[in-house]
Amino acid sequence: MSLNIPFQNTYARLPDRFFAKQAPTPVRAPKLLAFNAPLAASLGITGTDDDAQLAQVFSGSAVPDGAEPLAQLYSGHQFGNWNPQLGDGRAVLLGETNGYDIQLKGSGTTPYSRRGDGRSWLGPVLREYVVSEAMHALGIPTTRALAAVSTGEDVFRERPMPGGVMTRVASSHIRVGTFQALYARKDVEGLETLVNFAINRHYPDAQSVTEFLASVIAAQAELIARWMSVGFIHGVMNTDNCAISGETIDYGPCAFMDAYNPMQVFSSIDRHGRYAYDNQPGIIVWNMAQLATTLVPLMPDGEAAVQSFSALVHDMPNQIAAHQTRLFAAKIGLTEVRQGDQTLIDDLLDLMTKDGADFTNTFRALPAGSAMDQIADRDTFAAWERRWSDRLQTEPQNPQATMRATNPALIPRNHRIEEMIGAAIEGDMAPFERLMAALATPFSDPAEFSDLTRPPLETERVHQTFCGT
Ligand code: AMP
Ligand code: MG
Repeated sequence: MSLNIPFQNTYARLPDRFFAKQAPTPVRAPKLLAFNAPLAASLGITGTDDDAQLAQVFSGSAVPDGAEPLAQLYSGHQFGNWNPQLGDGRAVLLGETNGYDIQLKGSGTTPYSRRGDGRSWLGPVLREYVVSEAMHALGIPTTRALAAVSTGEDVFRERPMPGGVMTRVASSHIRVGTFQALYARKDVEGLETLVNFAINRHYPDAQSVTEFLASVIAAQAELIARWMSVGFIHGVMNTDNCAISGETIDYGPCAFMDAYNPMQVFSSIDRHGRYAYDNQPGIIVWNMAQLATTLVPLMPDGEAAVQSFSALVHDMPNQIAAHQTRLFAAKIGLTEVRQGDQTLIDDLLDLMTKDGADFTNTFRALPAGSAMDQIADRDTFAAWERRWSDRLQTEPQNPQATMRATNPALIPRNHRIEEMIGAAIEGDMAPFERLMAALATPFSDPAEFSDLTRPPLETERVHQTFCGT
């Protein structure tokens, strides 16, 4: 049976100034490296048994029936600086299936490529594949990975690298920057169309523009708190990398931290630490303020809108903090937050900061009673443990179960990702397969994957991560 993707093309029906029609550019020798068959099935995609055909379609070498490929327009603030002209410079949306976008990334130049080559090398493709699927398994809203293909062509970065195409599935690719593009062009009619489209697609209960903004803020507040709860650092929280749906999007120089350090930065281009771990809650509020700004022209009374939008944005830090407290309380076994719990959490995090304790392993060791091994300052930890144990006496639920269900054993550690990419470019996909298998059930600890829970040795430590380009 031949591949069938039941496309709808609702984005392609929007005004044509929202995008540029753009076919993907064929590649020389596409080879399927990974395919997410369960995800394909859940999207209603059938006829997926021919790898050669999948490689053709998911490299952009053949446009599947029913697709209307296009590159989306957007703008954005990059590291706080306004950039009016961004857009899909190396991606095309094929269409939607079952309400989800199917997008090829690394599929050739578009009218928005600026000086870029429209391509991606294999490293970022496989990194996004692994990390986005790991995030999904951790229960964190995210875009998904459907396929990874090698192109048989070199991409020139500092040196020639093997090229790749990633197929991404997202509940949409509408970004804060999509709204900003229309706002900057004073396209009020376009903004109205976009807001209605986004409400229909993501927040059907929203009855007004204000409720739409409140819904996006609520989704993003929970998302960022979830990132914090697993030690995830996005790395480039520019407004063009911030999805209206509340999904994690645009995995570039992202990383999970090993040693706990609130000021941790991995991205090579984030010189001032704007997107450091602990800055993420503040930055998302800034991004939501940018979204709010774009919605003001839609309101009959601009001044009143500024007031009510400001109130929503100003309340966002409280929402994020409440989610963080709830999530971190669960990480220490508490299902109900009480007075004093935040101090208990903060005191543990302070101890971990001083020691550079491994974030994932310290929390995972709590229910086993072996967290002491993670912390050098044993006396202070013992004192903390006594306070914690007193508090646990009053916890109605089984704290061990709560902790095991909220503290993963397995995260995609940077050094394992680097190792996996190194092997893949030599043609060895075994480390990729193994990482994917392990990360599919991050809350269990099978002995066969115990090596993947080990923090990096000093010689393995990854100090910097790089953008996808
Ligand atoms: P990013 O920082 O990866 O989110 O990308 C920022 C902008 O640069 C987006 O508009 C991308 O489409 C564009 N871009 C990134 N890499 C390339 C590339 N290799 N060729 C063309 N455009 C690119
Ligand atoms: Mg981006």
